This record gives sequence, structure tokens and C-alpha cells, in this order.
Amino acid sequence: MSNTQHLARKTVQALTPYLSARRIGGKGHIWLNANEAPDCSEYQLDSSKLNRYPEFQPPALINAYASYAGVNNEQLLTTRGADESIEILIRTFCEPGIDSILICPPTYGMYAISAETCGVAIEEVALDAQFDVDYFAVEQAVNKSDSQVKIVFLCAPNNPTGNMLDREKLVHLLQATAGKALIVADEAYIEFCPERSQVDLIAQHENLVLTRTLSKAFALAAIRCGFTIAQAPVIAMLSKVIAPYPMPEPIAQIATQALSEKGLAVMLERVAILNNNRQLLQQALNELDCVTEVFPATGNFVLVRFKDSAKVFAAFANNGIIMRDFATKKRLENCIRITIGNQAEMEATLTTLKSL
Ligand SMILES: *Cc1c(COP(=O)(O)O)cnc(C)c1O
Repeated sequence: MSNTQHLARKTVQALTPYLSARRIGGKGHIWLNANEAPDCSEYQLDSSKLNRYPEFQPPALINAYASYAGVNNEQLLTTRGADESIEILIRTFCEPGIDSILICPPTYGMYAISAETCGVAIEEVALDAQFDVDYFAVEQAVNKSDSQVKIVFLCAPNNPTGNMLDREKLVHLLQATAGKALIVADEAYIEFCPERSQVDLIAQHENLVLTRTLSKAFALAAIRCGFTIAQAPVIAMLSKVIAPYPMPEPIAQIATQALSEKGLAVMLERVAILNNNRQLLQQALNELDCVTEVFPATGNFVLVRFKDSAKVFAAFANNGIIMRDFATKKRLENCIRITIGNQAEMEATLTTLKSL
């Protein structure tokens, strides 16, 4: 019996931690469970200044991402992955034990886990029958007289269902909740459908926040580099709360190279290939007997409902293909999320499915 665990905060004692793909693990040679990119580029590292603390917000990195995203430097914060951005938003804007966040399940799991670890309550407005955001219900929840909702987390492309946001309804929600709550649009996968980004709305809406990452389309999940985009007043608040040296210098170097003209060209080529692989996979999936539903895919993943997902999951595992199982999640019975990999990985996936 431990003599220290009872010292931990009650919420932490009770917490079920996020089961990341890496923690779940698995035995296999084809990894399609974490929405990572299949390839990796090479980077140069200058290690001559590792004795010095890094810049709070490395200027070369901020300049490069601001220019890529089309925002000003003061509208940008770089963080250790988009996951840290989510946590800093909650720690900055939500009073523990009083305020709450609002999420629209089924969606990315870290919004709820970050809120729990911060002692912040979670309200839910389920996605509608088509897995789209129920904007009217969200607006009502934020604006009801006793509402303590400070942040609404939306995700587009939504992980895992792939749904996007409706721009007109989002704008209406931003106006209806201005001064009451922040509306966060998690754009972790936006490079796969850049025309659907809400970034141009930042200029008009002080309560809009976007979270971004280099972990997906940029193929840099290992370096833990993400971004928050918002108007300067929000970024200034977040900057008070984030750690004093959040971005390690070697990470800033790699991320800056990924955002160079050459780095961006490599990313765009990767996105074109993966989007093409996704379309081919979707078509093939639609013709399989074991499949009952292929969700609308917009990122580098596709959610698929099978007649018997346990059987499919076992068949993948037998062939060394690691997928992400969503079957135990509410409304996602028999669903498996498939990350879009390279051509060989997609062929192995289909070969397994056709053998069933
Ligand atoms: C992967 C993912 C993240 C986390 O990104 P990191 O930058 O690796 O922390 C955030 N949001 C969504 C929706 C994701 O799928």
C-alpha cells in the first residue's frame, strides 16, 4: 500500500489518464493508430548554445509560423504540442471548482482530461445525429443565466469523426458568446483541408482561438511543437501562465526548418499523397461487405464502422497492423479509426480486410 498516493489531489487520485496510442502500444510493424505521418525528413542541428536558456518564444519560429498561418506575431503562441495549448487555455481562463469547459462528444479526449486535472468541470453538448456541432444547444448552454462555461472546445476536422465546422453558424456562435466564453477550434489536421480553416476570422473575433500542431501533416509528432492563434489580448493572458522556457532550442530549430519554403513544399507534397491515399482507401472500404459505414474523412484518418469490429481489430493485430479502437466509445460502437499511411500500408490494410 503506497504511503504517498493518498497525498495527491482527489481529482488526480480518481483520474483515468489519457490512453495515448503510445501508452496502449502494441506489437506490429504498421502503425496506423496515432494519426502520425508515415515518413520523416532530415534536419540540421546547431548544438553550440545548449548551455543557454532558450528564448521564451523563439523569434525565427514565430516569424515562420505567423507567415505560414497569415497572422501577426502577437497573435501566436508556440507550445509543447497542441496538447499543452489546450491545458494552458484551461489554466488561464477557468477558475478551478467554479468554471467549466464545454465539449461536443464524441471528440478528442484531451479537452476533458486537461479540465479534470485542473479541477474544472466539463459540460457536454453531444454532436447531432450527423456528428455535426449542435450550435444552437452550445449557444444556449453558454448563455443560460447560471452558466459557468468559459471555453467551448470544437474540433475540425473532428477527431475521430472527421466532421467540419459550419462557418456561418460558427460566426453566429462567436457573436452570441462574445464576452462570455472563448470558442476554440482545434485545427490539428487543417493542413489536409486548408480551405476550411477559420484563421481569417481571428481578425474580427476576440473570442476565437485556434490550436494547431506540427505533429500531423508536418510529420513532427516527436518534437512536441504546437501553436495557439488568437487576438493579442488572449495571447498575452496565456503568456502569463505558460512555463518561462516552454520551447527547447533544438525543437525550435527543427520546427523553423519545417516551416521554411522547402519544408512547406515537402509538407504540401505529403498532404497531396496522403489525401489521395485516403480517397482510394475510402472508395475501397465502401465496397467491402464487412463495412457498414465510412465516416466523412477530411484529415489523415478515416473512421469506419464494421459489422464486427472486434473481429476486424483482431485480424489487423494478427497481421501486425496497429489501429485505434473506438468500439467502447458512446455512439461509436464497432468503429475503428484508420490513420492514412503510405501506399504499402494502405494495401496491407485492404488485404487484411478483404481476407475476412
Ligand atoms: C493529435 C491531436 C492533438 C495534439 O497534438 P500535439 O501537438 O501532438 O499535442 C490535438 N488535437 C487533436 C484533435 C489531435 O488529434
